[in-house]
Amino acid sequence: MATVLNGKAVATQIENELKERVQALKDKTGRTPILATILVGDDPASATYVRMKGNACRRVGMESIRVEMPKETTTDELLAKIRELNNNPDVHGILLQHPVPNHIDERACFDEIALNKDVDGVTCLGFGRMAMGERAYGSATPQGIMHLLNHYDVPLAGKHAVVVGRSAILGKPMAMMLLNANCTVTICHSKTQNLAEHVRQADIVVGAVGVPELIKKDWIKQGAVVVDAGFHPTDDGGVGDIELGGIDEIASFYTPVPGGVGPMTINTLIRQTLEAGEMEAGKTS
Ligand code: NAP
Repeated sequence: MATVLNGKAVATQIENELKERVQALKDKTGRTPILATILVGDDPASATYVRMKGNACRRVGMESIRVEMPKETTTDELLAKIRELNNNPDVHGILLQHPVPNHIDERACFDEIALNKDVDGVTCLGFGRMAMGERAYGSATPQGIMHLLNHYDVPLAGKHAVVVGRSAILGKPMAMMLLNANCTVTICHSKTQNLAEHVRQADIVVGAVGVPELIKKDWIKQGAVVVDAGFHPTDDGGVGDIELGGIDEIASFYTPVPGGVGPMTINTLIRQTLEAGEMEAGKTS
């Protein structure tokens, strides 16, 4: 029987620890860590994610500033807003909700975020530093996955990890983090040939493709660790990027959908915002 990597339970437990750290920081400095969230346009799913992130901040006693910009916003206007937040000493972390409208240069805007406020781990500089094993905030979803794997003492060193997906916010940083944890890593993507054969060799498989149940249960090796970052709502709740029905008879550990990876993403964002506040307090006290 597989062990469930229960992201919801772990995130709740971490939130309790964060509450105490936020209070300790307030007692020491009189200041509350603040996450600035930027939402451009009116995509309802993005608005929901931003709201959830603001709510998570408040649950642990932090604050969030909500910046909403119209869908016509230009790259220059968004860059100027990010610079303003970079220069605002009350703001400890900046989250630019992905995706921004197509006409905006999202990469340029991500990279405008100051490294010490890049609590969602989206800048090229932060990615490069993380990849090199230097101090940086990790991209929130893969960093949350690493936290979950470590929480359950999932053995990583020497294991063959197959990451399916190579996006900048998920697949690529996930692969680097697993490499840094001494996994042997294969990265698959839409041009990969014989995807099933790669997945069959995985001791650890990470689904990060954005296609419902693309990765079939039959491809997964007995005893593998199964991590599913996907979420696709259905009438019964939702499915991930991996076919998870009956997976508990195959996997050694697996993330449920929902309640696995998702809660760890927001948790990582708020944890890293608090760390940014603690770092700043360390500099100024
Ligand atoms: P993305 O930017 O669309 O990237 C998808 C990746 O999957 C790309 O690298 C793509 O390859 C690859 N891919 C697509 N179809 C494939 C196929 N048939 N075979 C092999 N590879 C294929 O998506 P993303 O932002 O990384 O998100 C991936 C999943 O994670 C989604 O389900 C998303 O909802 C989920 N997610 C969850 C959270 C969370 O908080 N839980 C956060 C972010 C994302 P190419 O590079 O060749 O196009």
